[in-house]
Amino acid sequence: PVVTRFAPSPTGFLHIGGARTALFNWLFARGRGGKFLLRIEDTDRARSTPEATEKILTGLRWLGLDWDGEAISQAARADRHAEIAHAMLASGAAYKCFATQDEIEAFREAARAEGRSTLYRSPWREADPATHPDAPYAIRVKAPLEGETVIADAVQGDVRIGNDQLDDMIVLRSDGTPTYMLAVVVDDHDMGVTHVIRGDDHLNNAARQMLVYAAMGWEVPVWAHIPLIHGPDGKKLSKRHGALGIEEYQRMGYPSAAIRNYLARLGWSHGDDEFFTDAQALEWFGLEGINKAPARLDLKKLDHLTALHMSAGDDAALLHELEEFLAITGAPPLTEGQRDGLMRAMPMVRDRAKGFPQIIEKAHFVMTSRPIEPDAKAARALDDVSRGILRELTPQLQNAIWQREVLEGVVTKAAEARDLGLGKLAQPLRAALAGRMATPSVFDMMLVLGREETLARIEDATA
Ligand code: GLU
Repeated sequence: PVVTRFAPSPTGFLHIGGARTALFNWLFARGRGGKFLLRIEDTDRARSTPEATEKILTGLRWLGLDWDGEAISQAARADRHAEIAHAMLASGAAYKCFATQDEIEAFREAARAEGRSTLYRSPWREADPATHPDAPYAIRVKAPLEGETVIADAVQGDVRIGNDQLDDMIVLRSDGTPTYMLAVVVDDHDMGVTHVIRGDDHLNNAARQMLVYAAMGWEVPVWAHIPLIHGPDGKKLSKRHGALGIEEYQRMGYPSAAIRNYLARLGWSHGDDEFFTDAQALEWFGLEGINKAPARLDLKKLDHLTALHMSAGDDAALLHELEEFLAITGAPPLTEGQRDGLMRAMPMVRDRAKGFPQIIEKAHFVMTSRPIEPDAKAARALDDVSRGILRELTPQLQNAIWQREVLEGVVTKAAEARDLGLGKLAQPLRAALAGRMATPSVFDMMLVLGREETLARIEDATA
């Protein structure tokens, strides 16, 4: 069975690149009936904060990327990491290094001065244990001196690294703390991770991590190192490219389904398919579809996908997400009446909306209540003549059957009778019902509001 994991370092927010990595791992596991695990790589105590962890969890939840079991803390597993370092020592795959920081620095300086490789070669590698001093030591892996290490990467193909490029890396520091390079491998092994999908900035680490797998005789997982995300200008993603944290996208009012679709397409493709549902992504996602070239951020595409997801969305689910959006923006919660109104209006206001702010804007007519305060444009549309026409329309609306065709007929006939275009009548009607001019069609509004409320709003506007 497939087991993947997302292993963020809790030193900031959930970056868009991290969110994509999480999504790929989630899609890969969930699409195969496998497990998706979460490990918080909090070994860097100085830079890791509980707030950052919380932000990452919140971001993943919003994205709907549910993980199996509890999130695992890497720092809490330090004893286990040390145990493995000592096992490597016992088997001879690693050795005790008594070199001090000063000695290592002196070696590097001399190497630099002589133009030699600065990869540290510890003199303790072949030392007779009888000569070991009674002093603190680090545990170093005995890296092969010749040949090459091949990373069989599912995205990049075989990546070869000469073993002369690999030093005898430290797995346990002289203060007894494990290094990151050791912790990742022990955790992935213990968690039963079968596939590691992560940014290609970790490709070089993979070669070093293979030393630990080899030393322990553990099976190496399938590696898939994915190209990073670039800005629209093709340069490495940075602050000047705008929103980098996933929560910023939530704040801008994008629905999570559109973000998932968009992130999936950032570096992965399935033929020409741009718009797809979660179910389709789960069915289609595979490592073979991951692109070798860096993906570029493209907010226009996100807007486009958002409009499609809003059109295809489920009313109740979108309403629920809209309420979450209101909550994070600090807006007051919806009243019962507003929620009912929104639910009824949803089919007409969500169509092609580029985000929740647009829906809220369009649905203003159900969010507001009598008396409707017209804005400047609406006030102008409600001039004396128009109000007169609206007054005359009232008795016909009182008797009409409340159905679209009937209402359309009533209003069209009233316009024809006065030799006016439909717009001439629709505009003041719109102003009376919504207090503004950018709204869904007047007939949609009348159907959502119902006869009583429609007539009351017209009466208010013509009084
Ligand atoms: N903690 C690493 C990071 O945030 C990920 C390590 C890994 O996926 O192996 O970049």
